[in-house]
Amino acid sequence: MSRRRGGRGGRSAATPVGRHHPAAPDLHPPIRHPIPLEAPVKQFACGDVVPNCTRTFLEPTDEEILAAVAVHARTDHGLTDIPPELVDRVRQRIRGAG
Ligand SMILES: [Zn+2]
Repeated sequence: MSRRRGGRGGRSAATPVGRHHPAAPDLHPPIRHPIPLEAPVKQFACGDVVPNCTRTFLEPTDEEILAAVAVHARTDHGLTDIPPELVDRVRQRIRGAG
């Protein structure tokens, strides 16, 4: 009976891995500061046109003001039709805040 003894062949070829430090590049991704879009805020006080009204409006644009005023005028002042001259007056009283 011949037994074969385990063949332990050669040594595991050690690959000469030297120092393998990944050169960490000093990569700072440029952080962008997003410029906050400061929406111009328009302000309108209904009291400037309708003396006994204390309603005020704050909207980013004149158009939004006018739209809000139109709704307000209809629901609170019973103005189903906003005469152009009233629109003009509203426009003239719109103040830009900031
Ligand atoms: Zn009003």
